[in-house]
Amino acid sequence: MRCLKCKENAVIELRQHNASYCRTHFLSYFTNRVRQNIEHRRMFAPDDRILVAVSGGKDSLALWDVLLGLGFNASGLHLHLGIGEYSNLSLEKTRHFASSRGAELIEVNLAKEYGMGVTELSSKTGRVPCSACGQSKRYLFNKVALDRGFSVLATGHNLDDEAATLLGNVLSWQTQALARQSPVLPRTRPTLVKKVKPLYTLTERETALYCLLKRIDYVEDECPNALGAKSLLFKEVLNRLEENMPGVKQSFVKLFLKRIQPLLKSEQDVDVRDCAVCGQPTTREICAFCSLWQKALSGGVAYNASSGAQIEDRRID
Ligand code: SF4
Ligand SMILES: [Zn+2]
Ligand SMILES: [Zn+2]
Repeated sequence: MRCLKCKENAVIELRQHNASYCRTHFLSYFTNRVRQNIEHRRMFAPDDRILVAVSGGKDSLALWDVLLGLGFNASGLHLHLGIGEYSNLSLEKTRHFASSRGAELIEVNLAKEYGMGVTELSSKTGRVPCSACGQSKRYLFNKVALDRGFSVLATGHNLDDEAATLLGNVLSWQTQALARQSPVLPRTRPTLVKKVKPLYTLTERETALYCLLKRIDYVEDECPNALGAKSLLFKEVLNRLEENMPGVKQSFVKLFLKRIQPLLKSEQDVDVRDCAVCGQPTTREICAFCSLWQKALSGGVAYNASSGAQIEDRRID
């Protein structure tokens, strides 16, 4: 197997692109794809302040590394979620990367700042851990970016993540979620920061190899709460398809964005307002994050802060 560019020994074969690359040309291919995604989708400009959501896993660390390498002003945000040893290890790897690059790292510890981590939050509210965790992450990413004056939030979602999410949304025809599934979510309100996914065309295998070649030490274990998650099943199914149909994941996501998503514009018209408690955007009086944490901190019941009435626990944000 020879490199497409220089004919040296290749370190990876990319069947979806009918190409193989040596170390040097794989790294430039990877970086160029990220740069093209940023430019083509107008994700951000050189003068933007970018906040990268960094879990300590391969995708977010690879993304942060590429952005720093391209000269962007990119700081990291790490949430310590309070999921046992997994969270401690994730923080350690993230800190190690940040200090090795001399990059700014902002840390938020759920237990210290809000009273409990995801495991306790889940048991106090009766919500499955990923639901409580996802809700808290979405909220805090937006809040920290706004409070600290960042113009854009970047996450490490890769092609496998996007294809698995798309498959899940299609299987249950979640039209509102499909309308929002995009590599760029613009700032539609002053309280909602722009969100981008610069790795959305690169696979997990590619981000893992990028980290390996750049000697980036990342958390290899999955979060213990991911065991049995439907997204992992969808990834397995898509990988089996990809083995027989190289490029299918890429075309699945690409053609969805090109042909189907423009038809779903009307699904994006939801009535958004500011949360009565925290002022962050929500589709109801009190945002899902405030409801969730009120419930956790008051022994299982959420109350309206202004009227004192008990409120329904629904997930919409
Ligand atoms: S797997 Fe679930 S609990 Fe673990 S980090 Fe992801 S969303 Fe949170
Ligand atoms: Zn080469
Ligand atoms: Zn709120």
